Amino acid sequence: MRSRLARDPLTGALVIIAPDRAGRPGAFSAQSPLPDAVECPFCPGREHETPPESLAVRPDSPGADTPGWQVRVVPNRYPAVSASGYGMPGAAAGIHEVIIETPAHHERLHELDLKRLAGVLAVYHDRLEHLLGQPGIRRAIIFKNSGAQAGASLSHEHAQAIGLNFVPPELAREERRRAAHARRSGRCLLCDLLAKAISTRRRVVVDMGKAVAICPPAPRFAHETWIIPRDHGPPASDILEAMAACLRKVLGGLESVSPGCAFNLVLAGPERAMSAGHHHLLKVLPRLTGIAGLEWGGGLFVNPVPPAASARLLGR
Ligand SMILES: [Zn+2]
Ligand SMILES: [Zn+2]
Repeated sequence: MRSRLARDPLTGALVIIAPDRAGRPGAFSAQSPLPDAVECPFCPGREHETPPESLAVRPDSPGADTPGWQVRVVPNRYPAVSASGYGMPGAAAGIHEVIIETPAHHERLHELDLKRLAGVLAVYHDRLEHLLGQPGIRRAIIFKNSGAQAGASLSHEHAQAIGLNFVPPELAREERRRAAHARRSGRCLLCDLLAKAISTRRRVVVDMGKAVAICPPAPRFAHETWIIPRDHGPPASDILEAMAACLRKVLGGLESVSPGCAFNLVLAGPERAMSAGHHHLLKVLPRLTGIAGLEWGGGLFVNPVPPAASARLLGR
């Protein structure tokens, strides 16, 4: 089958869709499990091993930093950005938090029921808004590294929230492309991408009404999926539930394609002033294929699975 060049409409990144690569031995990495910590700092009863919590979903227990929580947010003990240095030349300053998504050590994200998964997504959005509102923070990103291949170091499910005093380059590219599309057409780039996927149906994984999961036209990773709410702005509870239903379907599909599949999740926020009208996007980036020389040296991603094939597999 012929390889083709595709451009990610949001970031402008170039991708080679190369179906012939899928047949080579070792095309999809075997998933290596993380070593299981004997004393996990994210388990209930060990709240004293993390810094004091910034937020917790705690339906039963009134006491902060005690068991009884469902989702718990704490400052990252090993932050990538420093808490001081705002406004100083060259300083990477910001806020770095950990979002512990379940109290159960072995529970995986796709195993949460819809209500709890929507609760996790509500915390993602809460932290995004919170960080964007802090002095000196220019952009915020929620990201999740699940599995060793995706960069996780602890097996207990958790995501991270980071607020930065500068604009990360990929977000800057996305914002430029969204703005250019709006200037040219008067429409939202993400709305147009969603409409295009829905009109052909070929790249739709699942349509949950208020949110849709699609495989993007130029996925950098095999089975890359974007979960897009139909409405703009911070999502209300019914939209979060629709996004959670999409996420469960996608992660469940990945599990059946490759049990224990490592993946990254990414949810990025705009500048504070644009927050109310922003069209959000939750990216699911499975890590079945490695990032190797061509990617590092040429900025050129090679994906062996065409997006329509991924949508068929995940949506089954
Ligand atoms: Zn644990
Ligand atoms: Zn839109």
